[in-house]
Amino acid sequence: MGTVVAVPKELAPGERRVALVPEVVQKLTKSGVTVRVETGAGVASNYVDEAYTAAGAVVGDRAPTLAGAAIVLTVVPPARAELQTLAPGTIVVGFLNPGRNLDAAAGLRDGKLTGFSVELIPRISRAQSMDALSSQATVAGYRAALIGATQSSKFLPMLTTAAGTIRPAKVLILGAGVAGLMAIATARRMGAVVEGYDVRRAAGEQVRSLGAKFLELQINAEGQGGYARELTDAEKAQEREMVAKAVAEADIVITTANIPGKKAPRLVTAEMVARMRPGSVIVDLAAETGGNCEVTKAGEVVVDHGVSVVGPLNLASDLAFHASQMYAKNLSSFLGLLVDAKGERVPTFDDEILKASVLVEAGEVRHEPTRAALGASG
Ligand code: NAD
Repeated sequence: MGTVVAVPKELAPGERRVALVPEVVQKLTKSGVTVRVETGAGVASNYVDEAYTAAGAVVGDRAPTLAGAAIVLTVVPPARAELQTLAPGTIVVGFLNPGRNLDAAAGLRDGKLTGFSVELIPRISRAQSMDALSSQATVAGYRAALIGATQSSKFLPMLTTAAGTIRPAKVLILGAGVAGLMAIATARRMGAVVEGYDVRRAAGEQVRSLGAKFLELQINAEGQGGYARELTDAEKAQEREMVAKAVAEADIVITTANIPGKKAPRLVTAEMVARMRPGSVIVDLAAETGGNCEVTKAGEVVVDHGVSVVGPLNLASDLAFHASQMYAKNLSSFLGLLVDAKGERVPTFDDEILKASVLVEAGEVRHEPTRAALGASG
């Protein structure tokens, strides 16, 4: 029968994505894996049950879908109580939110389950096709640029019309990682004049290659694994001065700055917001991790001194069709490490990608920060 892989319907509020899409199910069933999908799992992202059935999946109720499955693929893991109903040893893969979703970690631990966290997949070239953080950040960056455009009362492109000439809007992107670069590319395609900023100097070349200007400080804060490190106080002061000037001149500011495991850096102060022109827009993609802007309220649109400050949550879910498609391809690639060529589950997790991304293994918490947080919370 091959390894049984189960895809439950997502239950987290507002979550529209699904872990596998029919196209990927077809590929997996052909490779000898048995795929079970809960009825309606893909409906919110516009994948109907019939498409899953046609792709070779067994579509049915939640309990029989999960019962006895070797691997459960999710976007957000099931609630703690439900995790404990899974058979010991079951593998759960998803955005386990290491160090923060302690309920999921505790559920995996108590149920003697194994959990792989897609956030912990290392950013090495062999794992590129599994990089769910990148695929979903691509979606979020695109959506952020669209939100900026629709919230703004200005055109983005330059226009020469009988009713006069319109100057292009100025868009500023703070943080030029995966989401920031996609926001830059999207704003450029809409015809805006775009500036980008990042503390990693390597980002400069990427920003410029997209036709945007790179704002540069005389620092390079590239830390471990290609991620940013936190700035010193003196560096923060330099940054504040440069950012304040750029923010005041921008029509739309999109912030995407993050430091793994830390609160998002505060880049835009309330004072800077007050100095923006009325009608300007800030889209804060770091709303979930504390916000890059002092005025941001997660999940809300705040209007302050005539400036709309948008703090969207889970933007990837808004573009659920393609976000799910990309995520499903990431998971299918990751499954290649968990299931062998005959469709059987591998007996041990020796691969370096598995070692890095395992949060809990058969009830043992393997991720140090999560273990510490669980210890502290009892
Ligand atoms: P992220 O979401 O952790 O952070 C977003 C951006 O914010 C980063 O570019 C970071 O440098 C920047 N930032 C942090 N503090 C800042 C500050 N004070 N001011 C301005 N910007 C600030 O990052 P990410 O998008 O996940 O990407 C992180 C790194 O990983 C990048 O170097 C990216 O190129 C790299 N990456 C590598 C691979 C791969 O090799 N497979 C895949 C994806 C990303």
